[in-house]
Amino acid sequence: MKNNAQTELLHAERKAPQYISTVQPPLFRASTIIFQNTDALFNRHWSDPYDYSYGTHGTPTTFTLSDQIAQIEGGKYCLLAPSGLSAINLVNSCFLSHGDEVWVADNIYGPNMHHLRHLESRYGISVKVYNPMDVESFQPSKRAKLIWLEAAGSVTLEFPDLVGLVNKAKTAHVLTALDNTWGAGLAFNAFDFSEQHLGVDLTIHALTKYPSGGADILMGSVVTQNKELYQQLFQIHALQGICVSGDDSAQIQRSLASMRMRYAHQAESTLKILNWLQQQEPCVQVLHPAAPDSAGHSYWKEVCSSAQSAGLVSVIFKAAYDLTAIRKFCDSLQLFKLGFSWGGPISLVMLYQLNEMRTLESDHLQSGILVRFCIGLEHADDLIADLKQALQHLPLL
Ligand SMILES: *Cc1c(COP(=O)(O)O)cnc(C)c1O
Repeated sequence: MKNNAQTELLHAERKAPQYISTVQPPLFRASTIIFQNTDALFNRHWSDPYDYSYGTHGTPTTFTLSDQIAQIEGGKYCLLAPSGLSAINLVNSCFLSHGDEVWVADNIYGPNMHHLRHLESRYGISVKVYNPMDVESFQPSKRAKLIWLEAAGSVTLEFPDLVGLVNKAKTAHVLTALDNTWGAGLAFNAFDFSEQHLGVDLTIHALTKYPSGGADILMGSVVTQNKELYQQLFQIHALQGICVSGDDSAQIQRSLASMRMRYAHQAESTLKILNWLQQQEPCVQVLHPAAPDSAGHSYWKEVCSSAQSAGLVSVIFKAAYDLTAIRKFCDSLQLFKLGFSWGGPISLVMLYQLNEMRTLESDHLQSGILVRFCIGLEHADDLIADLKQALQHLPLL
């Protein structure tokens, strides 16, 4: 049968030859996945992730990435979502129902808190904000269904007593979910962080940060070691049509090869910058788990056995510096760019007014405007020189 040119073009053989071997795996882009025959169609099991049936359920490209993320984080199963926040939403919508309580650390990633407040006002879920640095008062109630943890906490970078918190959660039979973006699966193993092999039930990870490393791709993951939890998540993932593109997955998978080195390098530069910032007179408090006076320094040392940390450091400026002065400082920076996110090649700066962000009192924090630096891959000396020239724009007090 001779077809027309257009039809011939469409039906050209698409199979990759078996003998070719490349460093990066082949990339699959698919909405439709073609069944070999009606037997294959009728025998498909959409709930078996490796029984390819439709693009939203995954392709070999997305599974290559999810397997690698599960492995890096010390879990067994992984689901991908189009952003870190979408991964958070997947956990919340899977495990929370009307009447449940969700417990959330006061220093959790801000948009997670906003999302939970939305669930509270619309879906009858109650939100209990706890102080992650006060294990003694941490006592989840009978209605508690899910506990959110983050180590180190967003923006203020306190490192909580994970062992103490997770022990209490387990005693109360409440699910634990850790936002693992800071540790990226490298600083500590979220599923096994104590001598008693204690770990959380679930992690979410903004792959947008270190795994992408390029400040150009958005993606998130949920990882667990527990098959039952995975199956529940898998179902909601499919029902909500949560999926990621093959192209984005391949880009992140490619960046994973260098993630460990980037993380270590950015951590090292951050320590150098941290030491320098501590000597600067306008900075009243420098926040980073490696700083001995930082909240939770000893817990960080205990859990992050190789004393690893992400490339984030926050500074609280003397309260006498008002917003205008701090804006001037931020606007004077040349190498540090003003923007959200972190883990990319370019260093970033962001300013925060803590009194608008926290529900509970934070006795360990000085008052003053907070500036967070995300250290990129520039030479640390150049970044310090940039900070130095920008500090000169602050008025003399
Ligand atoms: C960035 C971030 C997220 C959300 O990731 P997006 O991909 O930007 O939605 C979640 N948690 C933490 C700690 C983050 O830094």
